[in-house]
Amino acid sequence: MKKKLIAGNWKMNGSLSANVSLLQAVLDGSKGLNCKAAVCVPAAYLAQAQSMLSGQSLIALGSQDVSAQEVGAYTGEISASMLKDFAVHYAIVGHSERRQYHAESDAIVALKAQRALSAGITPIVCVGETLAERQAGQTEEVVKRQLAAVIHTNGHCISEIVVAYEPVWAIGTGLTATPEQAQEVHAVLRSQLKAATSHSDRISILYGGSMNAANASQLLAQTDIDGGLIGGAALKAMDFLAIMAAGSTTP
Ligand code: PEP
Repeated sequence: MKKKLIAGNWKMNGSLSANVSLLQAVLDGSKGLNCKAAVCVPAAYLAQAQSMLSGQSLIALGSQDVSAQEVGAYTGEISASMLKDFAVHYAIVGHSERRQYHAESDAIVALKAQRALSAGITPIVCVGETLAERQAGQTEEVVKRQLAAVIHTNGHCISEIVVAYEPVWAIGTGLTATPEQAQEVHAVLRSQLKAATSHSDRISILYGGSMNAANASQLLAQTDIDGGLIGGAALKAMDFLAIMAAGSTTP
């Protein structure tokens, strides 16, 4: 049985002083919990978080993006090898906010996953439909298309990724997919991964979209939900710890 992975996405929030309080409270409260965890911090705070996380193994460091390029004249971009210098373990790729505000295509997301993998960083590949796509009955088609691009580009390395199903209509809105709605899509993604690699059992499929202390247990109890990608609730230590606790007790 895989341990659940609870990953926080801080998005563009934080400050040097606020990060110390948040991360120290999470570190103090997480002792003895039995899940895997990560915090995906803004790039500007990677060094600070790396130093605070050193010497323990429960909470890993993550970035919120990685460049699709390897090196060179790409102003503002951060390469996978640079992230590796800060002991980054996970990189979120294809978050819906990047797809929406930075016009990231499926092909770019697939390349980003490839760059992360070749640097030894685990990409957390986000897929998810918009409200209009769900209402048009296109959920399955959309998430399969998004994941297929990553599978196509990454071949057998696909067994080293993490997938996050994040319905766009549930991110930061307070609307959560019901456990049944989430499970239905996770099962689709699971069978797509099974068809792509004989090592699909290694791949964790996280749910993300307004997961919080109150709904985490029910979502995490679903057969194909292996953890959570947490936005808003990752900014409050007590809430994030409650989700980690739920991830430590649900089978
Ligand atoms: C996210 O940004 O990945 C996310 C799931 O956000 P929230 O939990 O705030 O919906």
